[in-house]
Amino acid sequence: MEAEIAQPRNSSLGGEIIGRIDALGAISETTDNLTRIFLTPEHRAAADLILSWMRDAGMRAQLDAIGNVCGRYEGERPALPCLMLGSHYDTVRDAGKWDGPLGLITAISCVADLHKRGRRLPFAIEVIGFADEEGVRFASTLLGSRAVAGTFDESLLGSRDHAGVTMREALTQFGLDPEHIGAAARARSELLAYVELHIEQGPVLEAENLPVGVVSAISGATRLSVGLAGMAGHAGTVPMALRRDALAGAAECIVAIEQFCRTDQGLVGTVGYINAMPGATNVIPGRVSFTVDIRTASDSHRKLAVADIVRQIENIAKRRQLVLQVHVTHENRTVPCASWLKRQVAEAVGAEGYRAFELPSGAGHDGMAMIDIADVAMVFVRCRGGISHHPDEHVETADADTGARVLLRLIEGFRM
Ligand SMILES: [Zn+2]
Repeated sequence: MEAEIAQPRNSSLGGEIIGRIDALGAISETTDNLTRIFLTPEHRAAADLILSWMRDAGMRAQLDAIGNVCGRYEGERPALPCLMLGSHYDTVRDAGKWDGPLGLITAISCVADLHKRGRRLPFAIEVIGFADEEGVRFASTLLGSRAVAGTFDESLLGSRDHAGVTMREALTQFGLDPEHIGAAARARSELLAYVELHIEQGPVLEAENLPVGVVSAISGATRLSVGLAGMAGHAGTVPMALRRDALAGAAECIVAIEQFCRTDQGLVGTVGYINAMPGATNVIPGRVSFTVDIRTASDSHRKLAVADIVRQIENIAKRRQLVLQVHVTHENRTVPCASWLKRQVAEAVGAEGYRAFELPSGAGHDGMAMIDIADVAMVFVRCRGGISHHPDEHVETADADTGARVLLRLIEGFRM
């Protein structure tokens, strides 16, 4: 059977998007991998390039008070509220080039397409590139979107990077005024919605054989720090029945957490760090600490699950005569995507000929901050093998193109 000949499309945005992904991916503090961190010369170079793309797309564009790139494409009349599109352009260390930039570049390409056709809409479109989402430099995430949402924590200005430079100093060196971050904040009345396209960073769309997906919610997360104390002792002299081995107890806890999460639909749980003391081949471990990360797309579900997991850990510790300490080190609420927006994303996906498949985002995104000033929706694009935060991160050109067509359709058909 002959291969099906692809129908020519009116607009293929995929090629331009890939070219720009490569151009932005080349701006890195190291030559052999990609690292682009907040308030560095690479941040500046990337911002300049993105601003030039925004202006080419018919937008008025500038940096805001925290270093976000902001572009505005007016609607049928000036000063209309906007549909805000965006993502981040900072990276983790040794990153892939798609995480963040795909959403930002796709949004710019959609606006460029409207501009080329002279199309104005009954609302403005703003495209925003957040300067810091990953939080690599100052160990605090979502700095760019929090500034826009008006929830930036000013006490972070005193936090220091690895070299001892404070955020206040770094902002000043970059040419920004740390006392005026408040100027980046936007009012709810200025925004109709915030929509972000992003790579999935997981393997679900690939398994479903779909190029795009409709995000149902950004999962909330609870992180625990667990300490178990038993009794250290000689590995040769203490009989098994008389031991209080903290590491064996932790191992039982970890398997119990895995079992629990496996049998509970929608729940993911990870023990990503463990430390055993004193940590010698011939000594029974006396003290262990480990972390637990629990996520799911409903806050009540997550809270019940965490309570259940803690109860199981307590039982294991009690049976093994281990002294237990559990601390909640981090808690993030779930950010549900708005139904009225999800419906419109699903329609756009359907109109492109794909099944509208809903999935939660297990990873955090700027929508977690933007929810404070706008309803939020997200479109996920399939990435190869679900690999992200890694140089092997990859999106097929056809999938980038499908994502762009979905976003463009969403914009043009957007109902407030
Ligand atoms: Zn990201």
